[in-house]
Amino acid sequence: MQFIADNMLGRLAKYLRIMGFDTLYPPRRDAHYRFATNLPNRKFLTRNSKYRQNATDSKALYINTETLSEQLRLVVNTLHLSIDSKRFFSRCLICNARLLSIPKEAARESVPPKSYSSHSDFVKCPQCGKIYWQGSHYQRMLATLHQIFPEL
Ligand SMILES: [Zn+2]
Repeated sequence: MQFIADNMLGRLAKYLRIMGFDTLYPPRRDAHYRFATNLPNRKFLTRNSKYRQNATDSKALYINTETLSEQLRLVVNTLHLSIDSKRFFSRCLICNARLLSIPKEAARESVPPKSYSSHSDFVKCPQCGKIYWQGSHYQRMLATLHQIFPEL
């Protein structure tokens, strides 16, 4: 399932990406609905209570909670998403593109020397060029996911 999140749901969008779900997060406020309308295969996630009535609509999911933990559980439970930890960290957190493995040598120029020497696996976003590795950021986000989904 693919998503488009409104501009109140930046953290939710980020964590959906971390979990490997294809999630658009358009930068402009007015773009959300237009995007959502033009992209019929994407579920529109919104904090806008105008969509409350459409809670069961196939198009929009009204998010009626504040915290990341509740929001993420709401999306996963309501839409019966299956969580697959093998897909975690497979998308760029900035632009949503699928990350590609790169040879360690190719990361040398772009990664701090300490991270370069202590990690062997690096992935790169083909769209924005950002390079990721399983450092402390990764560990923190993974810990957050395990807190939200203790069953993982
Ligand atoms: Zn990117």
